[in-house]
Amino acid sequence: MSYLRKNIADMAGYMPGFQPPDEAEWVKLNTNENPFPPSPKVIEAIRQATGDDLRKYPDAASREGRKAAAELYGYPVDWVIMANGSDELLNNLIRACAGEGEEIAFLHPSYSYYATLARVQGAIVKTFRLTEDREIVGFPERYSGRLFFLTSPNAPFGLNWSPAEVTALADRCDGLLVVDEAYADFSASNCLDLVKEKQNVVVTRTLSKSYSLAGMRLGLAIARPEIIAALDKIRDHYNLDRLAQVALVAALKDQEYFGECVARICDTRDWFRNELISLGYTVLPSSANYIFASPPDRNGQRIYDALYQRKILVRYFSDPALAHGVRISIGTCEEMETTLSVLKEIG
Ligand code: PMP
Repeated sequence: MSYLRKNIADMAGYMPGFQPPDEAEWVKLNTNENPFPPSPKVIEAIRQATGDDLRKYPDAASREGRKAAAELYGYPVDWVIMANGSDELLNNLIRACAGEGEEIAFLHPSYSYYATLARVQGAIVKTFRLTEDREIVGFPERYSGRLFFLTSPNAPFGLNWSPAEVTALADRCDGLLVVDEAYADFSASNCLDLVKEKQNVVVTRTLSKSYSLAGMRLGLAIARPEIIAALDKIRDHYNLDRLAQVALVAALKDQEYFGECVARICDTRDWFRNELISLGYTVLPSSANYIFASPPDRNGQRIYDALYQRKILVRYFSDPALAHGVRISIGTCEEMETTLSVLKEIG
């Protein structure tokens, strides 16, 4: 007799990117972290908040954070919710919309964590294949599932969908279309404005990448107030601790620092991509802070292993749709120069 629900006992857990214990010795380009530190204003705000007040609960609604995000993105406060990482929102969107036996969908390849979250709920998982030419294979004229997650820019390909393309997809969905914009700050376009225009569009964002705050676990969603109200009912009531809340506000308010870091990463990305192309690699155009690069012999494992031996960590996926390449997060200029010189050496 098992004490566990059958779907939990049977499922495999999600395998996050490797965080080496001797972190400082690696060039770490495997989890799309930002190579630059958080804004000095964020560090200062956290320092200020590490006092006696920590004995008290945080503001359950994260009101200051919602206000800052609402101002930044041009939405009323009741269209915004904060989360302990955008993963929390992806989870709660499934919990709010898809019951046991109901279907959710996403593209393959994209972020496979949607599948884990759906299986916990006993929901059915459907995937539509995404080609490297941005074709979504077999997406029906009407998709009747409860939720469709569109990762834009896509992970790990880095491909982006324009608001017009997302509008056309939303018109074909009976359920919600969740645009997972974890990487949208590195892209020239995003779907924030669509939330006002399309009743079934929700956008999720994270501060893990573009704001250098993966370690604080901060995410947010923009959605219609009735959806936000539902997400508020089911979240942990104190989902953001006091330090996360002050970090969030300081980060969103320091747009100058944010803009500089993002611009540097995008410049490095475009330079690095061109260098790899001159080495004979196939590299998809990327709107994110990583690239998907395939060497001339289409052997991603070989590249991963050779870099690993030199303490450079990138991401290799054994999935047949991805085994011909590696995903390389964009680090500092120096880190990418080191990586490039190893790639030149190993051929
Ligand atoms: N969406 C995508 C596409 C991601 O790659 C990630 C990061 N692994 C997330 C969402 C979750 O980000 P976080 O929980 O750190 O906000």
